[in-house]
Amino acid sequence: MTQILSGKQVSAGLNEQLIVDVKKLKADGIEPTLGIIRVGEKPDDIVYERGATKRAEMVGINVNHYQYDNGVTQEALINEIRRINDDDSVHGVLLLKPLPSHIDEKAVCRALVPSKDVDGITEGSMAGVYGNSGVGYPPCTAEACIEMLKFYGIELIGKKAVVIGRSLVVGRPAAMMLIKENCTVTVCHRKTVDIPKRCREAEILLIAVGKAKFFGRDCFNENQIIIDVGINVDDDGNLCGDVDFSVADGYVKAITPVPGGVGTVTTGILMKHVVKAATQARHG
Ligand code: NAD
Repeated sequence: MTQILSGKQVSAGLNEQLIVDVKKLKADGIEPTLGIIRVGEKPDDIVYERGATKRAEMVGINVNHYQYDNGVTQEALINEIRRINDDDSVHGVLLLKPLPSHIDEKAVCRALVPSKDVDGITEGSMAGVYGNSGVGYPPCTAEACIEMLKFYGIELIGKKAVVIGRSLVVGRPAAMMLIKENCTVTVCHRKTVDIPKRCREAEILLIAVGKAKFFGRDCFNENQIIIDVGINVDDDGNLCGDVDFSVADGYVKAITPVPGGVGTVTTGILMKHVVKAATQARHG
């Protein structure tokens, strides 16, 4: 029987700990605060902002909203980020991306100090993930994948992990984090030859591609743990992952569902990072 690795349980565990940690910070006079910067009114951004805000409220974290219309200049955004960098009452920043095309996104990300980069968008945070320097924070989705594997007690040491997708947001940092956990990691992408064969070899298969139900039986083996990061809409308008769940369920050893899997854990990791940033700011 396939074990369903629900994100809800992981999320509930994270919440419990966060509530305790936030209470401790408040007892010391610190109000952990997340700043969310949104440009424009993209429905996906609004949904994510609403989800993050609800999650923050649930555990007692404050949220400051910084909203701009689509015509905002790069300079105005950078100035806002610099103001937040200097504002001791804000501990972490979530910048909703992508930004409009007239803005150099990298330049805006670069303006943020890594100590407030709770979603891993700065070069400092990337160096932290890739070089174990302890600077910044890993991207929340990549860390959510590792959090799920650990929560369910999945042995990682010496395991063969295959990561499909090499984006800076998910695939690459997740691969680095799996290496840190002592997995042997293969990263596949658009140009990889014979992906199904690579997938079948995996003991841990982490897929972050963005193609609805794209990965089928030819990619699986019976002892496999699958982490499906994809969030897509299928032909019937329903949310689904990159994996054809109906085929994997009952065949592989364990799988994260979509919805109710990695996505559920991501905002919990974001809050964990805010609490860590607030705690570190206290220790100055
Ligand atoms: P992206 O488009 O930046 O990267 C996709 C990657 O997949 C690329 O590296 C590309 O080389 C690879 N790829 C594309 N087609 C492929 C193919 N046919 N075979 C092999 N590799 C292929 O996307 P992303 O931002 O990394 O997101 C990936 C998926 O994860 C999306 O569905 C996104 O919605 C989802 N996502 C989920 C969360 C969450 O919280 N659960 C967060 C971020 C992204």
